Amino acid sequence: MQDILTAPWLTELIRTATNMYAHGWDERNGGNISLRLDEAEIAPYVDPKTVLRTVPTGFAAPELEGMYFLVTGTGRYFRNMQYFPARDLGLVRLTDGGLTAELLWGFDDGGTFTSEFAAHMMSHAARLAVDPLHRVVLHCHPNHLLAMTYVHDLDERAFTRTLWQMETECVMVFPEGVNVLPWMLCGTVAIGEATAEKMKTARLVVWAQHGIYGAGRDLDETFGLIETAEKAAEVYLMIAHLPRKQTLTDGALRAIAERYGVTPRAGYLE
Ligand SMILES: [Zn+2]
Repeated sequence: MQDILTAPWLTELIRTATNMYAHGWDERNGGNISLRLDEAEIAPYVDPKTVLRTVPTGFAAPELEGMYFLVTGTGRYFRNMQYFPARDLGLVRLTDGGLTAELLWGFDDGGTFTSEFAAHMMSHAARLAVDPLHRVVLHCHPNHLLAMTYVHDLDERAFTRTLWQMETECVMVFPEGVNVLPWMLCGTVAIGEATAEKMKTARLVVWAQHGIYGAGRDLDETFGLIETAEKAAEVYLMIAHLPRKQTLTDGALRAIAERYGVTPRAGYLE
């Protein structure tokens, strides 16, 4: 067996967590990450037949039966992950139709996965249904997106249009827009189901007065998705109180979409 701490998927996830912390998106134990892995990717590092312990998940996810996920632990600080990977991360396989997680590596002080495991796993199931290459779910608390949910209309079309207008790149990066979940109690199966429902039509789901969920095919893409929306929110907050003399018009947004071969969410442009 090779040393799992040298696995590229593990080192990349740690780099991502460290970078998210550096951006100020993951104060204290805020934020969580899950990465879907193939058995072929984990086999050089862990024996898939050796289960260290099993943990009930509290939800069913039959679509994810037998799938492997590297996931951050509950109560862990992204700031520390690079120093304590075997404590702060776990490699799990879902079984019993998603009701049980089998721990294959990590959480070595007896800990367990993030309290948002339901939202992560249900989001994976929702995204896999529309994109078989989907692998990553990231959750964090980016300052400007969070602030925007206090002062901007939470209507998804209006929220998306404001973000698209803040930077030329936005409509290219998230042409399907940003879905918005009004405030709900976190850490529950109910918010997991609601998030997954929103994930059917967009890779970004804002949790009002809390943060954001992003989904994608790899860690870089998903990080970049959140980074782009967060930058747009920052620009919005810089100018929201000032008279706007010009903006990105719907005609401009349409031209960007045409030039770069993306399809903006139907009905979002006039
Ligand atoms: Zn959170």
